[in-house]
Amino acid sequence: MTDDLDRLDAEICDCRRCPRLVAWREEVAATKRAAFRDEEYWGRPVPGFGAHDARLAILGLAPAAHGGNRTGRIFTGDRSGDVLFAAMHRAGLANQPTSVSRDDGLTLTSTRIFAAVRCAPPDNKPTPLERDTCAPYLHRELALIRPELRVVIALGAFAWAAFWPALRAVYGVAPARKVPFGHGALWNAGDTPWQAGGAPALLGCYHVSQQNTFTGRLTPGMLDEVFTRAKALAGIG
Ligand code: SF4
Repeated sequence: MTDDLDRLDAEICDCRRCPRLVAWREEVAATKRAAFRDEEYWGRPVPGFGAHDARLAILGLAPAAHGGNRTGRIFTGDRSGDVLFAAMHRAGLANQPTSVSRDDGLTLTSTRIFAAVRCAPPDNKPTPLERDTCAPYLHRELALIRPELRVVIALGAFAWAAFWPALRAVYGVAPARKVPFGHGALWNAGDTPWQAGGAPALLGCYHVSQQNTFTGRLTPGMLDEVFTRAKALAGIG
């Protein structure tokens, strides 16, 4: 499985299937933000990061133009990641509270993080076609971590919506009716205890964007509650 995940990561990093996103990620990497003008931007798709035997997955929207698209690691080098990894560290899921570069020593416990769309989109808004073009990478990654995966936290409504096609593609499961996104919303396949390789539960969480964290819509305490609940569902001690 480790080799397969590494191969998938490498394949993702070379992808150029979405012309608009390829042009945008490379333009951002060339023009840069003034604060990072001396850095070499990644400027490529950003693969998943974390444990290969993850029981818990965190699904985001897409890399940030000057975060993941700069550093090459998801939620790394921006304020969203600062909030997310601080919470993961408090929850015992990350060995350090910060994520600043690919070689900063960060490791995750029983957790993998990835995005529904692997390239930074303009205005953080992928088109439906770009979302669907990138979806097979998410499906393949879920299939590879399926043996241990018990819970997925969807950060925001876009990730929540991206989960259902993945559930159908990987597990052959679909909910009987539409399940609306909400902070703290929970879906699972049934009342029976989780079986190895069975469909993971889905837990909704407001996105860790500055728009939410600066306004207090999402507080550190709310994130702590989400991780406490996710760990219990995933059987992470
Ligand atoms: S968004 Fe996904 S499918 Fe599109 S170019 Fe990036 S990695 Fe490839």
